[in-house]
Amino acid sequence: MLIVLDTETLDELLADEHILNRVKLECLLLPYMGLRPLSQITVPAEFPGGLEMGQRIDRAIKPHMDRLQAITEPRAKVQVIQETRKLMETQFETVVENSDPYKTYYSWSDRLGLKSEQAKVRPTVHEIFLFKDGRTGKELKRLIKDREKLRVKVQRRPDPQIGRIRFAYPEEFNVKWITRMGRLLGYPDCCVKQYAQDRVKGVNVETRAATQLAEVLNEEKKVDVHAYILGFFFPCRPDCPNSTEKGFRWQEEFSKMDERLGEMYAELLGVNATMVLRQPELINRYIAQFQKPAPEKDGADG
Ligand SMILES: [Zn+2]
Repeated sequence: MLIVLDTETLDELLADEHILNRVKLECLLLPYMGLRPLSQITVPAEFPGGLEMGQRIDRAIKPHMDRLQAITEPRAKVQVIQETRKLMETQFETVVENSDPYKTYYSWSDRLGLKSEQAKVRPTVHEIFLFKDGRTGKELKRLIKDREKLRVKVQRRPDPQIGRIRFAYPEEFNVKWITRMGRLLGYPDCCVKQYAQDRVKGVNVETRAATQLAEVLNEEKKVDVHAYILGFFFPCRPDCPNSTEKGFRWQEEFSKMDERLGEMYAELLGVNATMVLRQPELINRYIAQFQKPAPEKDGADG
């Protein structure tokens, strides 16, 4: 059952500096080993040097955004919005698609026999999904299409009552969509269910998860980090039996393939748990960017 990678290839992958260690394990090896149907990364953010790539694009776009702010005539505005969008797409091609991390990621996906699908979240933010079997690919395509439909729906009839995040990412508040995507990404059902319920009820999942973990730590109880199986994953509770079991199994499979992988994964589990503790802080920083003066509904948000 276990698919072993020859040592030479594995050495090469481990030494590759164009891919983060977390991404090597979570996004390339887990689907390759058949332990997770689908993986997802957001680019350029999750590439080494991704932050700088984003900044380079922002700098190139800034003059157009400034011009856009100054225009009031509607037809001229539509024209500049279209030009800006086009520029964003060209910038993504030049800065991201031409980069070593981007090319390296696809080359590893090919070498490991994985298939890929890319989705445009915004003109300068894309998601790359990797998977092994065609059935996963088909369900993923349906999910991407359904997300598009949900977005078109809220944009067509914007509800002033809903917040900016709910407007930008309506799928994050749709139980069915979250459940299907969560399963595909290898999250345990109980954790997906909790995540979906929280989102819909308006509970901040990141804060909930951070508080749960902080409470256990405050009681000076030991936390088993095996529940924190992936980055940006929130277990239903710090001692969720299903995710903990998964964490142990994945660690064991990694160790069986190569001791170094087992050690890397053990370290990653700790990092994941620490990130959950820090989430409210990170999220606040993220939300702050949505609290700038409201752009036009049809604006060219990068
Ligand atoms: Zn759970």
